[in-house]
Amino acid sequence: MLVKQIWTGNAYRNFNYLIACSENGDALAIDPLDHQKCLQAAKDEGWTISLILNTHEHHDHIGGNEELVRQTGAKILAHKNAAGKIPGVARGLSAGDIVKVGRTVELEVLDTPGHTMCHVCLKSHTDQPALFSGDTLFNAGAGNCHHGGHPAELYKTFSEQLARLAPSTLVYPGHDYIENNLRFTLDREPDNVEAEQMLDRLAGQDPSHAYVSTLDVEMQVNTFFRLSSPTVIAKLREKFPDLPDEPDPRTVFLKLRELRNGW
Ligand SMILES: [Zn+2]
Repeated sequence: MLVKQIWTGNAYRNFNYLIACSENGDALAIDPLDHQKCLQAAKDEGWTISLILNTHEHHDHIGGNEELVRQTGAKILAHKNAAGKIPGVARGLSAGDIVKVGRTVELEVLDTPGHTMCHVCLKSHTDQPALFSGDTLFNAGAGNCHHGGHPAELYKTFSEQLARLAPSTLVYPGHDYIENNLRFTLDREPDNVEAEQMLDRLAGQDPSHAYVSTLDVEMQVNTFFRLSSPTVIAKLREKFPDLPDEPDPRTVFLKLRELRNGW
């Protein structure tokens, strides 16, 4: 499996992706908002884009579909319930479906509601797995739930699916928010040394050569996986004095998601 992360350089800080088969150069474009950059990258690598996958229905993820389809004839794949929200979906996806790219690449569909209610992530069947996480999981952060999402569903997705992935899983998110997210982590957990060191290292990084984390790293620096950290809980109690002594992780997650909105 060949992966190209494409930095759009737009105001929303979107990442687009190409995933290609090393044998025949067939490629899948994930959320190809910047269709020109995607086409140029495919041309540079000698790849042919035959599939588009939209992780979800927001415009900054589907806005490049029409032009990319016009120029390549690629088929659009998305969550089965997104068909009415994304024009031209050729194949609706359910949890456990396999998306094949060329002869060698297999990507497993995860149904991951929360940011929206028809969001999919893809997990590669490779020795070191990779997760293409759209707006569900960001480096050191989680998607918001303002536009068709639900925080309780996002918690379920984190706890029942993402947290159970192999620690070595590479994380390829839909946006570059790492710096801002690490600042939130440190606001909530000032003694998180890993997050502090990472922020020192990555502040001002060039997103066209972005750092790629693993799930193991996310467990250390992503507040939304650190729901039983005594510091996170103590700091949360400053904002929410009614928080019980040993709050359940769901409550902590929902309070953190709420705080992140106004941060
Ligand atoms: Zn979105």
